[in-house]
Amino acid sequence: MSAFDDIPDQLARLKQRGMYRRRRVIDSALAPEVAIGGGHVLNFCSNDYLGLANDERIRDAFKAGVDRWGVGAGASHLVCGHTAAHHELEEALADFTGRPRALLFSNGYAANLGTINALVGAHDRVFEDRLNHASLLDGGWVSRAAFHWYEHANIGDLEQGLAAQASHRTLIVSDGTFSMDGDQAPLDELVSAGRRHDAWVMIDDAHGFGVHGPRGCGLVDPARYGLADVPVLMATLGKAVGTFGAFVAGDEALIEFLIQRARNYIYTTALPSAVAVATLKSLEIIADEEWRRTHLQALIRRFRSGAERIGWDLLPSDTPIQPLVVGESGHAVALSQALEARGVLITAIRPPTVPAGTARLRITLTAGHSEADVDRLLAALAEVRETVAEGC
Ligand SMILES: *Cc1c(COP(=O)(O)O)cnc(C)c1O
Repeated sequence: MSAFDDIPDQLARLKQRGMYRRRRVIDSALAPEVAIGGGHVLNFCSNDYLGLANDERIRDAFKAGVDRWGVGAGASHLVCGHTAAHHELEEALADFTGRPRALLFSNGYAANLGTINALVGAHDRVFEDRLNHASLLDGGWVSRAAFHWYEHANIGDLEQGLAAQASHRTLIVSDGTFSMDGDQAPLDELVSAGRRHDAWVMIDDAHGFGVHGPRGCGLVDPARYGLADVPVLMATLGKAVGTFGAFVAGDEALIEFLIQRARNYIYTTALPSAVAVATLKSLEIIADEEWRRTHLQALIRRFRSGAERIGWDLLPSDTPIQPLVVGESGHAVALSQALEARGVLITAIRPPTVPAGTARLRITLTAGHSEADVDRLLAALAEVRETVAEGC
């Protein structure tokens, strides 16, 4: 007998509770319509907000990047994996965000863990919004800093905690756009709370970068927020940018410090250089093609007014993330299956990703969708609302 013998029982319990996770196998490149299970469905669950993940120009850049640099980077950035392509991308990201420096990480999860851990430790405090992304929470927990939650977007609650006791360093950490709710952090209030309490603010703009702001600079628009307001800006490249990886942007000292101290930066293989080349092309497109953001905003308005008309309750979100909270996990899964039978792919998001009793359909819209796609989504939602609502 071993203490690990109950793993099959744990799996069985997850199944009973409707919390068992299964991966779906997709048989086509990412697009508004994807092949799955022998059929085709309209995809409303990717984070490819600008419809760039499969853009031909970015594909070509990626291929040219492979021809120029090969595939694997072969080492970490500090050994011999840091190429001119990575370096050029860091400079472009610094420009794009209006900050002196940027540091490329292999993914967003690593960037958040590495950055929070480098910045705070045993004698410090970290304050996190209750709905922060798992990677931000994990970063706070692993850092050994005193960990404080504050109620979602509740600055009064945050300030109470900040005032309670002083510490060496204090870091306030928040999603820019909350990944499962789609609402945006109260950035102005976070910045002034940081000021009043001598705390640094770190914003994870994974869902805002490329989607909001002039030329897609993100929520932390440099015209409004300086380095003193938001010293630590993090964003990912696997969502609106359509490639892979992540970065932190800030001042010279912050970036040099992360190079010395962020373990998730130091002890990991650099991204393939071709990803950097593809990302450079994507940044160009993001800045130039304002129509992608305009079109996306029009789709968001169309979806919201349509969903309200057929009686779905929406969360207060004007971002591409439009969740329908249904409550129980089983109900969310049943709805997701009913939608798939009607040709619409939306995954059910369940605890522990979201709080208990708030399982939901997390609908995401992208600039790749057409108005007709949104109308098909609305028609399917109207049908399942009638059929499934009775059974639950
Ligand atoms: C997706 C996401 C991450 C993780 O980024 P990856 O590059 O996918 O590892 C971090 N933070 C937030 C808010 C995210 O949504």
